[in-house]
Amino acid sequence: MPELPEVETIRRTLEPRLVGKTIAQVDVHCERIIHGLEPAAFSARLKGQTVASLGRFGKYLFFVLDDISLVSHLRMEGKYFLKPAVDPLAKHEHVVFRFTDGSSLRYHDTRKFGTMELVPKGKELRLKAIDAMGPEPASAAFSGAYLARRGNTAARPVKAFLLDQTVVAGLGNIYVDETLFRALVHPMTLAKHLLRSEWDRIAVAAKQVIERAVSDGGTTIRSYVSSLGVSGMFQTELRVHMQKDKPCMMCGATIVKTVVGGRGTYLCPHCQIQKPGKGLVVGLTGGIASGKSAVQRLFRKAGYPVLDADAVYKDLSKSGKVLYNDIVAAFGSGIQDAFGEIDRAVLAKIVFRDAAARERLNAIAHPAVRAAMLAWIEDQKRQGAELVVASVPLLFEAGFETFCDATVAIWCPPRIQLQRLMKRNGITREEALRRIGAQMPLKEKCRKATHQIDNAGTRRKLHEEFVTVLAILRS
Ligand SMILES: [Zn+2]
Repeated sequence: MPELPEVETIRRTLEPRLVGKTIAQVDVHCERIIHGLEPAAFSARLKGQTVASLGRFGKYLFFVLDDISLVSHLRMEGKYFLKPAVDPLAKHEHVVFRFTDGSSLRYHDTRKFGTMELVPKGKELRLKAIDAMGPEPASAAFSGAYLARRGNTAARPVKAFLLDQTVVAGLGNIYVDETLFRALVHPMTLAKHLLRSEWDRIAVAAKQVIERAVSDGGTTIRSYVSSLGVSGMFQTELRVHMQKDKPCMMCGATIVKTVVGGRGTYLCPHCQIQKPGKGLVVGLTGGIASGKSAVQRLFRKAGYPVLDADAVYKDLSKSGKVLYNDIVAAFGSGIQDAFGEIDRAVLAKIVFRDAAARERLNAIAHPAVRAAMLAWIEDQKRQGAELVVASVPLLFEAGFETFCDATVAIWCPPRIQLQRLMKRNGITREEALRRIGAQMPLKEKCRKATHQIDNAGTRRKLHEEFVTVLAILRS
């Protein structure tokens, strides 16, 4: 199906070949393509008109004549061919424009979905269907601010939203897939859940994609062949569309094909993460034994759902669960206890002594834990939660803060943290220091977080700190 860049290529190809030609006769072989007039009246109105220029808006092509314009929409399969007027009528040639110089322009359409309509010259954009259309991606009116304003209340997937011609003109299936990939936005994300920064990325990506596709002459996939044998080259620039099972050029993950709003949709499941909906997501973090579980209890007591990434990880690494086989394969049967379960104390010793082993475990665990956390958050929001707490020890290390609206780090003086850890886990001072040293320094976590809770004092003081931060979060 020709999209904006292909129609623009057709316009650029045909214009220099048609300007100055005068129509001698028009033969209509398929009535339903002509809108607004009977075929005889349509032909009579065009006779004697000379082609002044060719215009375009979205996927509509305009043949601008003396005092009228012919507006043509190619729909699925429409194509134009220039041939000598004496050539016999070929199959699927439904409208033939014969010029006074002995040449002819043939409209070819195997599906007969294309349309043609006459409008007064200069009134092309007043045509009802065109008037209802949004701005073109290249126009100044198309921006992140515009998309955010229109998308703010749209409860449909962002892909369907961008395919809507009343939102943006001429952005079709291929180019929406490419735009969303470049903007790192999952096509299924509901438009109303997107942040302003994401709309900005989408606007920039759409402009780049369309500009590049136009300069490449469009994309040649299956049915699209520009008139006169001119074909586009943008297919070599496609990063996700039609790239199923190929590695993502950004991350190496496998591109998948799915269906969104009835349209085949390609995406990288790693680069394009589906975001949860509205409702405040608070990421809670801290160092080992800095008092995270005490703050979790306070959030729960205040009536807010809390999910602890450590608990999710524990659950997912039980035998029979998704992480079990990968972890045992990576670290050997030495980490299994008498019941075949993973001995967390043994595994902890290994990974806290060896940075490479720690990274290996994180690479296995993070994607599954993250997916489970996001699914839980989405579920809580669907049930109407206004504030949900994701407690994630490696919040910043794992990049989970990008899914949070606010982040809270718990501060605790190093001396107290060390004592708590030794007592809680029954480990030596040396081992406790090693475990603390293996993490991002607590000071850095506090600097990165949007809020901080001080856990240096008494239980009562902690409660006061919590109440203060909660009031700020809810405001
Ligand atoms: Zn990727």
